[in-house]
Amino acid sequence: MTDLSQGGSGHCLCGAVRYAFDAAPNWQAHCHCESCRRATSSPYTSYFGVSHGHWRWTGETPKVFMSSPGVKRHFCGTCGSPMAFEGDRWPHEIHFFAATLDDPAAFRPAAHANWNEHLPWVNPDDGLPRMRTPRRLHPAEDMAAVLRLVQDSFAFMRGRIDPPSSAARLTTADIARQAAEGEVWVPALWPLEMCNLLLGAQRRRRIDDAKRRQLVARAQALRLRVDREPVAITALDALAARHALSAYAAAYLELALRRRLPLATADKALLAAMRASGVDRAAFVAR
Ligand SMILES: [Zn+2]
Ligand SMILES: [Zn+2]
Repeated sequence: MTDLSQGGSGHCLCGAVRYAFDAAPNWQAHCHCESCRRATSSPYTSYFGVSHGHWRWTGETPKVFMSSPGVKRHFCGTCGSPMAFEGDRWPHEIHFFAATLDDPAAFRPAAHANWNEHLPWVNPDDGLPRMRTPRRLHPAEDMAAVLRLVQDSFAFMRGRIDPPSSAARLTTADIARQAAEGEVWVPALWPLEMCNLLLGAQRRRRIDDAKRRQLVARAQALRLRVDREPVAITALDALAARHALSAYAAAYLELALRRRLPLATADKALLAAMRASGVDRAAFVAR
């Protein structure tokens, strides 16, 4: 059986875009992240990295879609096949989609990346390691800003509103460490909660207009991963009723359960619900 150790080649559905590479891939893996799923309209994608200088387009040059700053997605301008991905976080290599290989059977995946984002109906029994939250935050996304934001805006309602009151127990060092190790997800209601809390703070004259604007800008700059998956009302209702939680708190628990993430909170009811349902407490919340 052949493999990719000497390189390989590939093409799009219509054959207009072609590529070749002459070195072994740096890695080969499956990715379950939502971006890859959306970009390929598939439950997950399989791809491999090839160092620049070892690959070239041999047919038509594909079109490029910049899906976010620093991220280039190459696709065939004729048939639309996704071909490759380049990101600022991997400046030395390009990522080709394994299914575009002329000989896809030569692909040798070694792991499932971003397993914490996998779809519940995808459960391959291939024995490969399942990696969780491998994404590391960029220094510009330093989570110390989360601490300042939350302390500035929520100190006046400490102990009255949760989950945000849990922020009173966060320390800068703990959040910086968390930021280096993984990413931080929030439910879709978080932007609404944040917005309302800051508006409310100004209406109660706790902060002025300039401060509110500054805090809103800072919240946006945090680039927290906002969960966009549709959540059934019945699922939220069942969780909230079972654990005597508000629907808001249940949304955090539902997210933690579905993405298999630890949860950052100091709310007693939520902590009890987490213990009962096997959700870990995020390490960056001080005890
Ligand atoms: Zn094509
Ligand atoms: Zn991905």
